[in-house]
Amino acid sequence: MSVVGIDLGFQSCYVAVARAGGIETVANEYSDRTCISFGPKNRSIGAAAKSQVISNAKNTVQSFKRFHGRAFSDPFVQAEKASLAYELVQLPTGSTGIKAMYMEEERNFTIEQVTGMLLTKLKETAENALKKPVVDCVVSVPCFYTDAERRSVMDATQIAGLNCLRLINETTAVALAYGIYKQDLPALEEKPRNVVFVDMGHSAYQVSVCAFNKGKLKVLATAFDTTLGGRKFDEVLVEYFCEEFGKKYKLDIKSKIRALLRLYQECERLKKLMSANASDLPMNIECFMNDIDVSGTMNRGKFLEMCEGLLARVEPPLRSVLEQAKLKKEDIYAVEIVGGTTRIPAVKEKISKFFGKEVSTTLNADEAVARGCALQCAILSPAFKVREFSITDLIPYPISLRWNSDCEVFPKNHAAPFSKVLTFYRKEPFTLEAYYSSPKELPYPDPAIAHFLVQKVTPQTDGSSSKVKVKVRVNIHGIFSVSSASLVEVHKSDENEEPMETDQHAKEEEVTDSLLPAAQNPHGAQLGRSQMQVDEEQQKAEEQQQTQPENKAESEEMEVIGADSKDKKVDQPPQAKKAKVKTTTVDLPIENQLVWQIGKDMLNLFIENEGKMIMQDKLEKERNDAKNAVEEYVYEMRDKLCGVYEKFVSEDDRNSFTLKLEDTEIWLYEDGEDQPKQIYIDKLAELKTLGQPIQARFQESEERPKAFEDLGKQI
Ligand code: ATP
Ligand code: MG
Repeated sequence: MSVVGIDLGFQSCYVAVARAGGIETVANEYSDRTCISFGPKNRSIGAAAKSQVISNAKNTVQSFKRFHGRAFSDPFVQAEKASLAYELVQLPTGSTGIKAMYMEEERNFTIEQVTGMLLTKLKETAENALKKPVVDCVVSVPCFYTDAERRSVMDATQIAGLNCLRLINETTAVALAYGIYKQDLPALEEKPRNVVFVDMGHSAYQVSVCAFNKGKLKVLATAFDTTLGGRKFDEVLVEYFCEEFGKKYKLDIKSKIRALLRLYQECERLKKLMSANASDLPMNIECFMNDIDVSGTMNRGKFLEMCEGLLARVEPPLRSVLEQAKLKKEDIYAVEIVGGTTRIPAVKEKISKFFGKEVSTTLNADEAVARGCALQCAILSPAFKVREFSITDLIPYPISLRWNSDCEVFPKNHAAPFSKVLTFYRKEPFTLEAYYSSPKELPYPDPAIAHFLVQKVTPQTDGSSSKVKVKVRVNIHGIFSVSSASLVEVHKSDENEEPMETDQHAKEEEVTDSLLPAAQNPHGAQLGRSQMQVDEEQQKAEEQQQTQPENKAESEEMEVIGADSKDKKVDQPPQAKKAKVKTTTVDLPIENQLVWQIGKDMLNLFIENEGKMIMQDKLEKERNDAKNAVEEYVYEMRDKLCGVYEKFVSEDDRNSFTLKLEDTEIWLYEDGEDQPKQIYIDKLAELKTLGQPIQARFQESEERPKAFEDLGKQI
């Protein structure tokens, strides 16, 4: 069992693993870049791909994190399209696909495949660090991701052959990384410590406020600006220099994607420099466009002026989390900031000014998310001993169900993971339509989540409506589902017969993460309050569930189906009915029609294809290694023939071997440039038949210095 945490960032990814010494971020040359480059023979992923952003622009894919779970027609996708060097396509399902030339063929990849490729690389990184296969992991997603986005990332993990134990919200991962090592958290009965976490990365800005007690954290509220991040600050500079260079050098920079990409890179570099340096800084790019060198200057003051609009967006989410959590600034113990963009001094200042205190940077701004993921993985892994730490996250957008009417099943900021049981009275199969009931809050155009068809519902033997218990759930990944449904069959029984209560739900519910009493009125409101309070105390909730009658008094669907008084009798408290009736519970199948979900067959095909591509990359790597081995041998031998081997080879042999080496070198750049692996292996073997005897003689002389002279004479 592996313990691995993966931060899938918009620009960079980080992998953290658990080893004997604790959690470690795996040291890469760089962090791994969120980038994949397709070539005629293989793919490059991560840092290797990033270096091809300009040279192989059309087939190098980056900035794709936010296409998960989105339709091609989504305004966000349409807006992004213009600034990408690669092409987006509409897939037959309507979702967003990516077009690239791969293996000399035009291919369309789904977003899940592309992220799957990235995850393949990150999995390998973890495997190299741990020196064992990696399957189990925890992956982070922005706290504002919708169901469709989360399911899409889950599919990507499967394509990469990973078993994602939890999709954790990025801010929650940071909170865990903060809390788990704190020895001085208030005891359970004490007032919790409230800490605000701020993560501003390349694409988004997320804020959460969490309450900590010993061994646990509860996310109280989250707020976000889903498009405020480092790239927006880069854009400000890009716009400025496009105009400035455009005028000064008469260049239409935006017409040439390569020039634009280069400008983005340079502007990002300049932006980072300005975080450390307030004076004038040069902006020079040689051979920028049409062989023209361009140059300009920028300084922090001017930059901040241009970024005023962006900086004004820092405060609202901070204000929002406090309002939602009903906390005052004074209630906040610390404000922890992470994410690359919080390094901009003005961003930091805005945050600390709002709270009236210095922000803390005790967490590693780049690695905290990945470390939190690995910690969560360690907690979930039975194989790893780690301090127990319980996390209660929340549901960022209210979720409603629609049948003949609408009912909000999970209000905003409801605890997650969580299950609720709803009771329906039905004579036939019915559909529940799940959707986000506050579309304005959603950074996403489609409020639909899924349709769930509860099948095989039949009337009772006497023709009356059956009681159907439906369990709805937001799971550990933050994904909503109608997870099970069951029909309660009522059998009239003998007065003398032993009372029997076979409603399996009571048992089932014990294993869920948290519970509301089954008596939750599907129509919510009036009944909700008092029972909501029970949420916190699971024990009490379960007691209530067993002793309280189902509250269906105002239940609209009952009226619709015309439930008679007999139905009501069924729902008397168990004590009242035990002697008269017995019930059995029949599980009902549920058919899901999810928005943007890859079908099972398709997913299997993608898994198979990923396997093929991994194999192809491996073969190509072996081929390249074989070629490099020939090249290295040529250089090594040429060097040594005039050096340490000189005394161990006759002049004739040396001349002909040197000639052979020279021929090989030329061959490598011409006919031998692109040959199958075996050809290189044969070539190396051929050279070695000449080189080996020389090498052997040399080695012998090194090992047996006394024999050296004799050997020399022989030659
Ligand atoms: P996201 O969290 O949106 O998915 P990410 O996790 O890839 O993206 P980070 O790695 O947290 O993002 O941050 C990258 C951003 O931080 C980039 O825009 C980068 O330019 C910016 N950044 C990094 N260092 C600095 C710095 N010293 N000054 C200003 N910006 C910086
Ligand atoms: Mg990030």
